Amino acid sequence: MNYKIALIRGDGIGPEVVGEAVKVLEAVGQKFGHSFTYEEVLLGGCATDAVGKSYPDGTAEKCRACDAVLLGAVGGPKWGSDKPAEQRPETALLAIRKDLGLYANLRPAALRPAMADACPLKRETAEKGIDLMMVRELTGGIYFGQRERYDTPDRGVECADRMAYSEQEIERIGRRAFELARLRRNKVSSVDKANVLETSRLWRSVMHRLAEEYSDVEYEDVLVDNAAMQLVRDPAQFDVVVTENMFGDILSGEASMITGSIGLIPSASLGETKRGMYEPIHGSAPDIAGQNIANPIGTILAAGMMLKYAFDMDQEAAEIEEAVEAALRLGYRTKDIMEDGKTYRTCSQMGDTIAELITNA
Ligand code: NAD
Repeated sequence: MNYKIALIRGDGIGPEVVGEAVKVLEAVGQKFGHSFTYEEVLLGGCATDAVGKSYPDGTAEKCRACDAVLLGAVGGPKWGSDKPAEQRPETALLAIRKDLGLYANLRPAALRPAMADACPLKRETAEKGIDLMMVRELTGGIYFGQRERYDTPDRGVECADRMAYSEQEIERIGRRAFELARLRRNKVSSVDKANVLETSRLWRSVMHRLAEEYSDVEYEDVLVDNAAMQLVRDPAQFDVVVTENMFGDILSGEASMITGSIGLIPSASLGETKRGMYEPIHGSAPDIAGQNIANPIGTILAAGMMLKYAFDMDQEAAEIEEAVEAALRLGYRTKDIMEDGKTYRTCSQMGDTIAELITNA
């Protein structure tokens, strides 16, 4: 069978890491008899440079014509906040997620045994293991609310960002979390700020309704400030953590840090259909772009998530996971995770190594 993948290589290190993920996909395709074809889609700063806007007309349609979307990263100082919104890469990211209806962002945060020394937490905390899934609402809340900026007579400029959530938006992300928990360790921790925010009180009441419906799943409410503390104190307590957009943005950054390098972590953004968008959690890393030193593992694992969630290829996805684990176990390291006694790999060498491990497994 042929699968069509929209490739958004993006800016900075995006093209470098996507190139390595494609290498690995080709190795999987050869081994399992799948054929992948790629549709190049321009989005981000590179699109601004090419056609004057970061989200060119027809981008969503191109992606919808594919079976899944694989994205590197977008952004960079060249297209900063001084530029008009339609030229900024972040505008394009928010727009594509919204247009493809990708309301659920899944970020696994797992401490790989081979990377235990990279965990910044106390050894006894790290030894308990970390294996959680952050489920972040992606198309609602304060990032999509109305923005205001106005002059006041006595306090200078004042700004406001509106945060809104509907029951329907909360319920669909909540269901995702409970369904995922059933496939994992059967526990949902819902993060909110219900002691202060009205949106959080609604969030909590919808989650409680779902908790009754999914009564086989263990459930707890956690206030966001406590969640931030618990993530560094005892992350092993968490299985699926579900939360709204901004809290999820911040907590998933924290969760990724406690598991080692930002370059190692993938994410999936899903909607109602199987087609999703798969990407590493890192940005375009302009400071290391073009040097062939980026870590491609986050993007390679994102390609693995794509095989699992978009194409139902559980075995093929597991093969990618195992090859990554093996590469790390054998001591191969890119610059960001290099330690004494390990074998240095450039970005493209790491891609080659993982592809070879798949071919030869
Ligand atoms: P970043 O993730 O790009 O980089 C943070 C630090 O981590 C840098 O030191 C970078 O060199 C390092 N790093 C990131 N990925 C790495 C990898 N794969 N291998 C080795 N080192 C890696 O975050 P930033 O510097 O805050 O943002 C840079 C640009 O990326 C900004 O324009 C930002 O808006 C954009 N951004 C895009 C996305 C996305 O496309 N989804 C996400 C976050 C940030």
